[in-house]
Amino acid sequence: MPQPQTHIIQVEMTLDGARGDEIIGMPVWTPGSYLVREFQRHVQDISASGHNGQPLSIKKIDKNHWQIDGAMRDKKMVIRYQVYAFEHSVRTSFVNAEHALINGASVFMYWKNHLSAKQTVDLELPESWSTISTSLEPYDNRKATRFFAKDYDELVDSPFEIGNHHEIRFEVAGKPHLIAIYGTSNYNDSTLIEDFTKIILAEKAIWGELPYNRYVFIFNLGDGGGGLEHKQSSVMFARRWTFTDKHAYHSFLSLVAHEFFHTWNIKRLRPEGLGPFDYDQEAYTENLWFVEGLTSYYDELLMLRSGFYQPDDYLLSITNEINRLESKAGKLHQSLSEASWDAWIKFYRPDEHTDNSTISYYNKGALVGMLLNLKILDASNGEKCLEDVLRLLYQQNYYDKDKPFAEKDILSATEHISGVPMDEFFSQYIHGTAELPYAETLHLVGLKLDTTKAGDAAYMGIEINESNGRFLIRRVVENSPAWTAGINVHDELIALDGFRVTQFPPIYLKERRAGDRIIATVSRTGILQDISLTLGSPPESILGLSRVENPSDDQKLIYQTWLGTAWPDTLNR
Ligand SMILES: [Zn+2]
Repeated sequence: MPQPQTHIIQVEMTLDGARGDEIIGMPVWTPGSYLVREFQRHVQDISASGHNGQPLSIKKIDKNHWQIDGAMRDKKMVIRYQVYAFEHSVRTSFVNAEHALINGASVFMYWKNHLSAKQTVDLELPESWSTISTSLEPYDNRKATRFFAKDYDELVDSPFEIGNHHEIRFEVAGKPHLIAIYGTSNYNDSTLIEDFTKIILAEKAIWGELPYNRYVFIFNLGDGGGGLEHKQSSVMFARRWTFTDKHAYHSFLSLVAHEFFHTWNIKRLRPEGLGPFDYDQEAYTENLWFVEGLTSYYDELLMLRSGFYQPDDYLLSITNEINRLESKAGKLHQSLSEASWDAWIKFYRPDEHTDNSTISYYNKGALVGMLLNLKILDASNGEKCLEDVLRLLYQQNYYDKDKPFAEKDILSATEHISGVPMDEFFSQYIHGTAELPYAETLHLVGLKLDTTKAGDAAYMGIEINESNGRFLIRRVVENSPAWTAGINVHDELIALDGFRVTQFPPIYLKERRAGDRIIATVSRTGILQDISLTLGSPPESILGLSRVENPSDDQKLIYQTWLGTAWPDTLNR
């Protein structure tokens, strides 16, 4: 990176042991993020040379592969290319005058048919940069800028943060951990060490071990959020001033718990389809509900286990999760397994119809994880839980054989641990779109749902974007009054019954009741239209979860085993 301010990375790739014509390729996606991103879009100025530096012909043969015409004597081929790296996200690469975040799949090409070969990486940094943070092992002790990966998968699964960022080193259970943070902020080193240690130990307690030699957390602080998991590291983005605001800091820690949970669930215990990877096309699985959904279930539960949440904070988190799913008409159209399979074209490519037609496998997967856990706890009288299923699968599939699991493995492990048939649960809630059995399942732990009364408040079923005093419709809820009447996304809402809309929700709606007919005036492609519609009632939502008045001993026992905290006594219930 001689000129990082230009965002250009100069890559020199050496094929050692080439045998004539060779093919190289750029991944079209990066594991953990299920979207074809076409990383080859940012490749330019490619050339190749042979054993004594003579130019070799290199030809692009499809969108992401190049063929080099070499001779048998060209045992060493060198390919040079540039990558434009200016997309700052956890899944892409970014270089500027201050630092570089390198996500391997968007920078390093692979040598076709040689993905299992050992890889060596040498980094050439601008003179003023002094720090490289990565989970890759140094090649040897002589050169701090040379790293080793046992194969291509490991190379692209090991991001780099490079520049003059801050590093915090600490040990947990005898293993070194590193927090690498780019970005001025208001965090405190010792608080981070203390809180990360709690999370790491809580997750170790679930899985039984820390399955790595060293772990690296990479953070870029700015205005974004999100994370991407790797086998020995993770990359997370967070807002800069997150660390002194309790609510924001809890969201941050929950993200840390999530990405770290993937150390086991997806990076080691992985479903068929997700590794070894084909970097040229989509990798399909029906099981993202397991690897992402259950990870989302545990990231919040771990906030309670690690002492960051009180039980009521956790119950609020479940309430929000339920409302998120129940507010989407998509729950009737798409199952968890379909959402997983179609992540590439639906979840990762949302549009105005997304909430009407799809669900999130994070959201519904977390809820199904909770329900499954409570069913197992109930069936085993509090003796067993979902973690026993995770440990069994981890042992059988990863530890014993290092092979991916099939869905039948999850089903049989769940039945083995709980001692009851689970096929109906799987067919209804994972492959089907049946309403989730919240009330009956939460009753097992002495909780009940408090729902709102729909009442006769007036409801249209639209969401808007406000811009310069204009109210542009961005979503029309399926089967709502607006949907039925033919109000469209992109329409500008001008007036209701002739009264100009000056705020949203329109204050005029308070004057009307469900069942009233009104005229909505909209501007569609610049032409005013009057649309008649019958107002409805807002859908029910859940106000919260509360504990039942007189819990049975069984309810109290399962509640306590589930949350790791005793049922509160009457006084402070
Ligand atoms: Zn995840």
